[in-house]
Amino acid sequence: MKFDITKIRKDFPILNQQVNGKPLVYFDNAATSQKPKKVIDAEVKYYSEINANIHRGVHHLSQVATDAYEEARIKIQKHINAKNSFEVLFTSGTTFGINLVANGFAQILKPGDEIIVSHLEHHSNIVPWQFACQRSGAVLKVIPMLGDGSLNIDAYQQLLSEKTQVVAVNHISNALGVINPVKFIIEKAHQVGAAVLIDGAQATPHLKPDVQELDCEFYVFSGHKICGPTGTGVLYGKEEWLNKIPPYQGGGEMIKEVTFEKTTYACLPHKFEAGTPNIAGGIVLGVAIDYLNEIGFDNIAAYEQELLQYATKQLSELENIQFYGTVKEKASVISFNFKGLHPYDVGAIIDKLGIAVRTGHHCAQPIMNYFDIPGTIRASFAFYNTKEEIDLMIEALKKAQMMLQ
Ligand SMILES: *Cc1c(COP(=O)(O)O)cnc(C)c1O
Repeated sequence: MKFDITKIRKDFPILNQQVNGKPLVYFDNAATSQKPKKVIDAEVKYYSEINANIHRGVHHLSQVATDAYEEARIKIQKHINAKNSFEVLFTSGTTFGINLVANGFAQILKPGDEIIVSHLEHHSNIVPWQFACQRSGAVLKVIPMLGDGSLNIDAYQQLLSEKTQVVAVNHISNALGVINPVKFIIEKAHQVGAAVLIDGAQATPHLKPDVQELDCEFYVFSGHKICGPTGTGVLYGKEEWLNKIPPYQGGGEMIKEVTFEKTTYACLPHKFEAGTPNIAGGIVLGVAIDYLNEIGFDNIAAYEQELLQYATKQLSELENIQFYGTVKEKASVISFNFKGLHPYDVGAIIDKLGIAVRTGHHCAQPIMNYFDIPGTIRASFAFYNTKEEIDLMIEALKKAQMMLQ
């Protein structure tokens, strides 16, 4: 399919509005993506036509809703190339998925076991593992980062040992946009028998992960960053590992048999899906994935790289700019500051000019500590953004610099 940006922008009603009297320029896509009309309509259609609880009812609507929900699961299975659809669990997002896995390990790890995370992680891939360490007596180890925002892979290999049980790293850093060599990280972890969780929250908007090719034990991502509804997400786990870890929440749907003496658990995926899930969300996430695949991830990646290069070039011409995360392998995320200016002040001024960027630590304080800064200005681009919008941001940044100096 030809990539037609004018047509694509028409799919996103929210983009066509003014903020503070200026056209909205939405460059906060790494925080959450906007939703195409197809997704919005599918949400309305679900509640207008098929709303019912799933997996239990004998009645017609319950069957229709169950079929739609399970079809969405299969769609996601195909999208990430999982071997079985029961290895795809619906969650409320990346944070929930990581907590589910970390909670499971908290119960099977022993004192002295080791968990490795990286310096580039989002807080949601740090804190749940700290909980797991507190509960199990395991020890947290951290892969250090280098000045260009890449991971110190030699140091990673030194950290690996027979004690390593879990390695948890992100596929792409949300704060810097750096793409990590996850395939290599997974291979090395497997050499010492460790399981690997990949946080794909920032990768899935830009690429189509192949979990069998990666060979990771777990892969997690959020629906709201890939044009889907908030409160949706996916946890992929290899069958063997989903059987190994205990359930996270107890309740309806996740049991086989309950007595007051003993409860046996349902089979996968239901063991991990206690209670009434976000049925509409799961179904509509399937619609979002269809939408992205219609545009095509090759088209998305090529276009976003064009935006990234254009923005990087335009930004580098501004005075006193400092970039963070300067490796070659990057997604369409740029983190920067101006010497002597607080990122928040810059963000607040350009907001007045209609430009939405994120300022702050981006839930990755260790990275900010590494660079010894309070935060950065982060512009993150999606396939529905344009070079004209980048020009508007550049003009706004120049004004902010003038006002603040
Ligand atoms: C957004 C993000 C998360 C957290 O996702 P939620 O949707 O807030 O649960 C975790 N890791 C990375 C890399 C992210 O970008």
